Amino acid sequence: MIVIENIALFKGHADQYCPVGSVVMEGNLIRFAGPREARPELPPDATVVDGKGAFVMPGMVESHAHLSYTNNGPLELDKSPVEEVMIKTINNARIMLGSGFTAAIGFGSVHRVDAFLKAGIDRGDIIGPRLLAGGRDIGSTGSNADLHPDYAQLKIDGLGMITDGPWEVRKAVRTLSKNGVDVVKVMVDGELLSGGGGIKPGVLGFTDEELEVLVSEAHHRGMRVASHARSAAAVKQAVKSGIDFIGHANYIDDEALELLIENKDKIFVGPAVAWEMTFVEHYRQFGFEEGGPEHEGYAAELEATKDSVKRMREAGIRVLIGGDYGLNITPHGSYAKELEYFTRDFGFSPAEALQAATKHGGEAFMPGGNLGTLEPGRLADMVIVNGNPLDDITVLQNPDNIPVVIKDGQIYAGLLRSGSPYLLAAGDLSPLLGASA
Ligand SMILES: [Zn+2]
Repeated sequence: MIVIENIALFKGHADQYCPVGSVVMEGNLIRFAGPREARPELPPDATVVDGKGAFVMPGMVESHAHLSYTNNGPLELDKSPVEEVMIKTINNARIMLGSGFTAAIGFGSVHRVDAFLKAGIDRGDIIGPRLLAGGRDIGSTGSNADLHPDYAQLKIDGLGMITDGPWEVRKAVRTLSKNGVDVVKVMVDGELLSGGGGIKPGVLGFTDEELEVLVSEAHHRGMRVASHARSAAAVKQAVKSGIDFIGHANYIDDEALELLIENKDKIFVGPAVAWEMTFVEHYRQFGFEEGGPEHEGYAAELEATKDSVKRMREAGIRVLIGGDYGLNITPHGSYAKELEYFTRDFGFSPAEALQAATKHGGEAFMPGGNLGTLEPGRLADMVIVNGNPLDDITVLQNPDNIPVVIKDGQIYAGLLRSGSPYLLAAGDLSPLLGASA
């Protein structure tokens, strides 16, 4: 049994904060989390740790994770050899856990990387977050799972699975199931940056029938479904077909909001705006001009998203933290920027942003389960922060402020030390030497 005393405690609920608290952990479970004076008596062999006023919160959930994206451009995702991707992904998993994200919902993975990564993490071979494995993106011909024109004659099997018609869609889902995928990712509508010929937001890639078949086959096989759905039309089609995770929802109208409200007990929305947020700053890096359709388009999409997320928040829809980190302008390790966007642009208080990252993320990861809040019997996933994110949400962006991450009762430190976490500075050497007691 391990007790951490003298901490500022955030248990995952936006309306609960305990400035002087304790947390008690036994094995991989929380036994107590609350005010110091309410703490039960401890057995004599309990290990007591002085938290020295550090801030303790549940582990965060990256709800739109692309661990197999290796900080390349969005149109290069499927061109890297699988061997190189696998090695870089193992590194990304360590970075994600070290950044305080103890669980991740895979929202698309190249090849079969997520499934093998998850197995490696579960075996204890690899350090990383709890993972729901994503798979290759399912999209129709000309969707943004299909970014290369026919004349290019590329044979690429990395990211997109191009399917047309109910039976091809069903077969793609069955193939993902066979390969160990937990979350089927589908492109419901298009993307502004779509390789030229691809469909744009607002243009649906699939018929209702194709999408309904996809969802029913995925649910039949115990998988959940995540979507790329930017427009109101896409959000409506996604909700009506029974999709579990609505990714983006940049544009919603009254009817889409009404549908989301009707389904708010089972549906989660993640705006995942990191891409647009950074694109409007870095569009020149991709060769686009100021005021061009890409720059203006993403800037407009961002403005619409601010309005949409505010409406969803007010309607009590669970809006999740996470999204599209792992591209060249949104590198791995910058995940906590998302909480800043929530407070700066979407009207969330810092406590609400933390709740989205923890309690709501936990509910999305493990419905009806024991993840996301610090309460007796729940899983011991915690982040210890030097600094108080309720005062300044950006403290979570600096790895130096996150000395310790606990996942499933295992205590990790130094995961983000530069270079390799296994390399020691000279000053760390001496305490390790000498005869053991
Ligand atoms: Zn994504």
